[in-house]
Amino acid sequence: MSSRPRIGLLGGTFDPPHWGHLWLAELARGQLKLDNVLFLPVGEPVHKTDRQITAVPHRLQMVSLAIQNNPHFVLDTTDCDRSGPHTTVTLLPLLRQAYPNANFWLIVGGDSLRDLPTWSHPEQLIKLCRLAVLPRPGTEIDWALLETAVPGSKTAVDMLSGPTLSISATAIRHWVRQGHEPSYLLPTAVSDYIQQHHLYHQEQAAL
Ligand code: ATP
Repeated sequence: MSSRPRIGLLGGTFDPPHWGHLWLAELARGQLKLDNVLFLPVGEPVHKTDRQITAVPHRLQMVSLAIQNNPHFVLDTTDCDRSGPHTTVTLLPLLRQAYPNANFWLIVGGDSLRDLPTWSHPEQLIKLCRLAVLPRPGTEIDWALLETAVPGSKTAVDMLSGPTLSISATAIRHWVRQGHEPSYLLPTAVSDYIQQHHLYHQEQAAL
């Protein structure tokens, strides 16, 4: 039996991290028998330039708080420590240096898989790792279209099965901006952090 470490990679803006992320990571860990899941906050997301992203130190703190009770979940700052642009295809070789023998699974929601053709060099990416995907409510995958756009993508995917959550960071930001508390949408420690630092109100605090 192979003793190569099995590592899941969950990249994201995590603005803020929520139960959808943690559930996705835990489902992948259990179903793919992963040793660890690395949470990789992105510094400057290439896909999200239409709004101001919360400062990296805040997002790192929130991810730390979100994963603090799971010994298999690890915060990895490789992506936010490097200069942009932050594409996944250029991140994988950096992680390979740190984990030379590992088998990698890039863990994503169905919306990210649907958008794979718009990623940088997706055909190279699927040679560097497998994809672990949980459907996301409201997102349909057109497998034929995906395979045409990125040949080989269909066989590079391990679909995860289990309940799905329609929570998104966008919905949480809007909820807080409307004056509500985000309790029960994310871990209490993250919710407390958001309140303490007045995140997602009109003016975002700089750390
Ligand atoms: P935003 O609403 O700001 O776009 P988000 O909630 O989608 O944020 P990201 O940090 O962009 O969160 O997501 C990182 C990864 O987690 C992506 O692959 C995304 O598809 C996945 N993800 C986030 N929420 C869920 C969810 N509820 N179910 C399945 N996958 C999810």
